[in-house]
Amino acid sequence: MNLRIRVKGARGPEPVERPPPGAREGTKILEPGRRPPSGLTVYVERRPLESMLRRAGVAGDYEVGGFLLGAYCRHRDTRFVEITAQVPALKAESARAHLTFGVEAVREFHETQAERYPGTTVLGWWHTHPGYGLFLSADDLFIHTSFYAAEHHVAVVIDPRAGPREAVGVFAWEGPGEVSPGARTLVVYEDERRRKTRRT
Ligand SMILES: [Zn+2]
Repeated sequence: MNLRIRVKGARGPEPVERPPPGAREGTKILEPGRRPPSGLTVYVERRPLESMLRRAGVAGDYEVGGFLLGAYCRHRDTRFVEITAQVPALKAESARAHLTFGVEAVREFHETQAERYPGTTVLGWWHTHPGYGLFLSADDLFIHTSFYAAEHHVAVVIDPRAGPREAVGVFAWEGPGEVSPGARTLVVYEDERRRKTRRT
């Protein structure tokens, strides 16, 4: 990889204070998942999740991926992120069991974020592991620690060959330099107001 992007380090932006999905008007929980006892809860809106699953299914044995956008929030003594959009890394080089996020993919992503998703926070990245399960490989950990080292950054992994229950997992930071050892589940919600304000 030959990337020249600024990495902010382990400090993230200050979380926005607001109630989580399900406790907020216009939102409802579709799949509660298993919440972690502590640390970051990861919510994903139904549409970006469906979009990722669709791309994962179409790509079959080829790894695909992209970037995650949304908000980093706090409510009382809990912290959570809400994934409200995914941006596919169209210029990432996809191959069997291999995915490279090159400088073109990152540049394209930043252009897309500025144009289409102003005001969103970069929450991390997602990619597929067709047929080989939910974990972060050594290469994945390199990407995650190099570019997504802040406390609100997450990595979503999708195995389109797995059954529906084990098909999607998320990895979050448990402490400085320490990623959750196993995949956690995402909490899936729907934001009804998003449909009305959605720009096409
Ligand atoms: Zn991977």
